Amino acid sequence: MTTPTTDPHKLRVIVVGGGVAALETALALHELAPQQTAVSVIAPNDEFMYRPMTVCEPFAYGTAKRYPLAPIVAGAGAELIVDQLASIDPDRRVVHLGDGDERAYDALVLALGAKTHARYEHATTIDASSMDTMLHGLIQDIEGGYVHSLALVAPGRMAWPLPLYELALMTAARAYDMNVELQTTIVTPEDTPLAVFGAEASGAVSRLLAAARVETITSAYAEIPAMGQLAINPGDRRLAVDRVIALPELFGPDVRGIPLGEHGFIHVDRFGAVSDCERVYAAGDATDFPIKQGGLAAQQADVVAQAIAALAGAAVTPDQFDPTLQGMLLTGASPIYLSARITGGRGSHSQFSDKPLWSPPVKIAARYLAPYLAGADREPSASAA
Ligand SMILES: Cc1cc2nc3c(=O)[nH]c(=O)nc-3n(C[C@H](O)[C@H](O)[C@H](O)COP(=O)(O)OP(=O)(O)OC[C@H]3O[C@@H](n4cnc5c(N)ncnc54)[C@H](O)[C@@H]3O)c2cc1C
Repeated sequence: MTTPTTDPHKLRVIVVGGGVAALETALALHELAPQQTAVSVIAPNDEFMYRPMTVCEPFAYGTAKRYPLAPIVAGAGAELIVDQLASIDPDRRVVHLGDGDERAYDALVLALGAKTHARYEHATTIDASSMDTMLHGLIQDIEGGYVHSLALVAPGRMAWPLPLYELALMTAARAYDMNVELQTTIVTPEDTPLAVFGAEASGAVSRLLAAARVETITSAYAEIPAMGQLAINPGDRRLAVDRVIALPELFGPDVRGIPLGEHGFIHVDRFGAVSDCERVYAAGDATDFPIKQGGLAAQQADVVAQAIAALAGAAVTPDQFDPTLQGMLLTGASPIYLSARITGGRGSHSQFSDKPLWSPPVKIAARYLAPYLAGADREPSASAA
């Protein structure tokens, strides 16, 4: 059954997902074209988890915030449909939902995120939804002096690498505070630590790692043939450690009905439009942009919202995606703020500072979502109403 639309004068926009890119799209459309669009958000999750802060959980610094989705979607003037996307029929401009229902759209935004897979059998692969359960015991073992060496490994097609560096620095700081000897090693395919932020910021991160006595093996791929055994390529270096933590590998989402690129990611142009699918857009980790980060997901969502607002007749001139990377690195002491423009896959205008370089100074820098969440933090009861 096709669900009828409400207002025939408004462009029916369906946003699929309940993460950074989806919420940013809905909030941006509410700002840019509130009279011209009727927005529905389809998501299976009832909470938005603030993933970046989950790295603090194993150190008993508190739990990452979870925000109920319904008030955020309502705050964006949108309708929330708690369900999953099953498939798309771009010719009829309808989406099929998990419950068998179908919904018609005039514009569709796919903000489905990426799928994560553990690359290594003999490593603990980090998962934001269970960071504390997964790593709290390890931190306790380090504090107790039972673990003396730790490797943190990034596979080839890695997720956002910042958490790996944060875990290394925070673990080294905790060991130092507890007066415990710990050898910490990062193995990464990056040319330099957090190379994507450009030379100056990467240099600052290298100095931080050196001061914390964290060794970083760059331009390297690790195999882990057995527990605690690392074979590092290229070359013949072998490393024996007590424990190994790894980042997951990322794959694109399962979407039936549209063409998918390499590893299942969705190919989009500079305005977020999906190739060969009229009125279908995508933003965030689901797309084939190589850097998977919340701030970039939000910038892609803003570009998509502008394109749709213009399509709906609002007085908006769409921008092209022109990414600026902003990252707040937790260190175990004060955070460091890193920023770079991304051109040709590399960081230029590289900056770092111990003072915030953007406002509000949060981990997911997003034009609409960041101030919205900051407001919810100030007035939790109002935003949960
Ligand atoms: C430990 C950790 C630390 C991080 N630190 C930072 C940081 O400091 N700064 C930063 O900017 N980024 C950080 N990131 C990365 C950031 O979390 C992601 O890049 C960001 O969440 C991507 O946003 P997204 O909207 O594309 O995808 P997601 O946030 O993953 O959202 C995808 C949404 O789609 C929904 N979905 C999936 N399939 C379907 C379906 N079939 N139908 C309907 N809905 C569906 C999911 O339920 C989810 O709600 C970190 C990530 C991790 C894991």
